[in-house]
Amino acid sequence: MSEYLQRYNERTRPARRRARNAWEKRLRAEVIQHYGGCCVCCLDRTAEFLRVVSESSQPAKRGQGSIYYRLKREGFPEGYNVYCANCAEAYARLGYCPHRDDFV
Ligand SMILES: [Zn+2]
Ligand SMILES: [Zn+2]
Repeated sequence: MSEYLQRYNERTRPARRRARNAWEKRLRAEVIQHYGGCCVCCLDRTAEFLRVVSESSQPAKRGQGSIYYRLKREGFPEGYNVYCANCAEAYARLGYCPHRDDFV
């Protein structure tokens, strides 16, 4: 029986991972949409590039997969902005973004 369960688990693992990824993708899209849906710096709307960055914890931390879940659970608190990967990286590494060097 346990061997059967193990096989069942292994067989369904890819499907469960896909379902989880799809759920995370929807959640992420929902949170990003709430915070403007595009990069506040360059207005990029490429979903795969966008991430939510806390104003108080810049430079952007990596690997915060659960931030979207937390933001939704907390009712979308203020103090977060959407950045694309380029701009987030620029702010994290340079402290400003070349797109907006007129503001520095
Ligand atoms: Zn950008
Ligand atoms: Zn930028």
